Amino acid sequence: MKNLTNINVVKELLEKYGFTFSKGLGQNFLINPSVCPKIAEYGLAQEGYGILEIGTGFGTLTAELAKRADKVTAVEIDSRLLPVLEETLSDFDNVQIINDDIMKVNLTELVETEFAGMKTAVCANLPYYITSPVIMLLLESEIPVEAITVMVQKEAAQRLCAKVGTRQAGAVTAAVQFYGRAEKLFDVSRGSFMPAPKVDSAVIQIRPDNHYRSMVKDKELFFRVVRGAFSQRRKTMANSLSSMLGLSKEQLYDCMDKTGIDRNVRAEQLSMEQLIEFSNELSGNI
Ligand code: SAM
Repeated sequence: MKNLTNINVVKELLEKYGFTFSKGLGQNFLINPSVCPKIAEYGLAQEGYGILEIGTGFGTLTAELAKRADKVTAVEIDSRLLPVLEETLSDFDNVQIINDDIMKVNLTELVETEFAGMKTAVCANLPYYITSPVIMLLLESEIPVEAITVMVQKEAAQRLCAKVGTRQAGAVTAAVQFYGRAEKLFDVSRGSFMPAPKVDSAVIQIRPDNHYRSMVKDKELFFRVVRGAFSQRRKTMANSLSSMLGLSKEQLYDCMDKTGIDRNVRAEQLSMEQLIEFSNELSGNI
């Protein structure tokens, strides 16, 4: 099997297949030998598991996943990588590549057909231009995954794993926490990639759970409140929400008073529990 973290091997492949990295597709491939095994271990690549990977590159992470899990199904948008993968993953008979855009794939169908009878987890070194959309797609699709273990830019990791109620938190933080618990696992320096990006990265893990979602009365309204409240971060929550949701300040103040929330609060000062209480109160009043 080829050592895909050896720069000379990568250079040979680039030359052999005339491959050039696409910046637009977020193609920064991992060349640090310690990172992929670590993602695979943390990411539940083990007996009894089917792993969904997003974005194979030359197959460096794919191979580490395939060594450990029962099956790996990877969705890769760039058809130029298919002949490369035929060569680099030729030792494995448990890898399936789907040449498609992850944002267009029916994930429920994919998991049912690819991973019948197995537990499922997601592992990826995500293309940075669609980090949050992919994570939200995975969570919103409600596919039965035990864990989502992904490499993202360090700043995105901070936001995704922030505590709601702190300055690092945003709408995506609350959205992720609605579906599960996110934690940062480890940092990865920019020099671990080829080509090296301008920023460092981190691997995070989301474990789906129902803790917060079971407290929310109206999911759609909760998400409208969260998006609206964080859309103009410098404004008070009442100001942002009244313009975003088209509600009067009096209606909003009434719900804030009833839930003990200060009228001048900004979204980033509210805990997850307070955001939920407020949206629950609002759902009975509009
Ligand atoms: N897993 C490889 C590694 O770690 O070396 C490659 C990671 S690279 C950061 C991201 C990969 O995602 C690239 O192979 C890129 O072509 C692929 N990709 C980009 N956009 C995609 C999309 N919308 N759907 C599926 N794959 C995509």
